[in-house]
Amino acid sequence: MSYKAEYIWIDGTEPTAKLRSKTKVLADGAEPPIWGFDGSSTNQATGDASDCVLKPVFTCPDPIRGGDSVLVLCEVLLPDMTPHPSNSRALLTPVAERFAEQDSWFGIEQEYTFFKDGRPYGFPVGGFPGPQGPYYCGIGADEVVGRDIVEAHLDACIEAGLKISGINAEVMPGQWEFQIGPAGPLEVSDHLWMARYLLYRIAEDYGVAATLDPKPAKGDWNGAGAHTNFSTAAMREGYDPIVTACEALAERAAEHIKGYGSGIEQRLTGHHETAPWSEFSYGVSNRGASVRIPWQVAIDKKGYIEDRRPNANIDPYVVTRLMVDTCCSALEKAGQV
Ligand code: ADP
Ligand code: MN
Ligand code: MN
Ligand code: MN
Repeated sequence: MSYKAEYIWIDGTEPTAKLRSKTKVLADGAEPPIWGFDGSSTNQATGDASDCVLKPVFTCPDPIRGGDSVLVLCEVLLPDMTPHPSNSRALLTPVAERFAEQDSWFGIEQEYTFFKDGRPYGFPVGGFPGPQGPYYCGIGADEVVGRDIVEAHLDACIEAGLKISGINAEVMPGQWEFQIGPAGPLEVSDHLWMARYLLYRIAEDYGVAATLDPKPAKGDWNGAGAHTNFSTAAMREGYDPIVTACEALAERAAEHIKGYGSGIEQRLTGHHETAPWSEFSYGVSNRGASVRIPWQVAIDKKGYIEDRRPNANIDPYVVTRLMVDTCCSALEKAGQV
């Protein structure tokens, strides 16, 4: 019997790209082929030269449709088969390959916020819920909203074979987190985009929108981030490489901030468990630092670091490329690989 393949790609919307998808029915046994779309409707082409190419790069079972259905994450190419300017995955690939021997691992904590009727899910009409405090990892109808969607999403990610490692309710009502990793730079990024697709798609069935807005509610409410946990083989074996990585991130702080998501200045204010975007700092256990060295890592003298700066709305292909490039080249230079 024929089966359904949902082709998923990242569009050219600026400053933050969106996911798009459409369905192809394939003959039994056929591999998902190269396909195309109208780039003039996705901010990726002009009407007079609208064809863009979809190249499958990661396929997994589709837990929503079930059966033989699959999800197909694609890179966008130009008709001459070179990467489209919006294709950030193509920029990550050579960097990941160049430093493959250092065996980089990432764990990305994706925070997000549900919206319904134009306001964060659970916010009363024309007002605000009680102040932050009880909601983080909360239990009970007075503290969390949307758990049914979150549970359905977790099950779907597991069924799809994604490397999801956990979920938790966040500091603001209607705000949640899932983590993808540990996995290499391309894998963690592919899986994160696929998990985002599943989140949007599942929330759709509940009449709820999931957003990656880094500051979804103005005022005394936490923003939404994508803390990026990172290690190399050397960092997993010793402490000097951990310090080297932190110092390298300090050197290139401004460049990283530019790639860490639109609207980062609104989120990294120095309040709400953030460090100001304009000043780099790192420290053990410090959730008010740009980069945190977890306490267990400081005791064990090996492990990983947490870059707390990336926004919820990051492109993981950009963030992992920056981190691999900065940290792995510094470790190589220091002879600590
Ligand atoms: P937090 O305490 O900041 O909320 P989480 O538990 O939400 O941290 O996320 C930590 C992430 O770090 C997880 O995705 C986990 O898989 C990942 N992680 C654990 N060890 C490593 C490592 N050595 N290198 C990279 N990532 C790691
Ligand atoms: Mn977390
Ligand atoms: Mn969090
Ligand atoms: Mn964290």
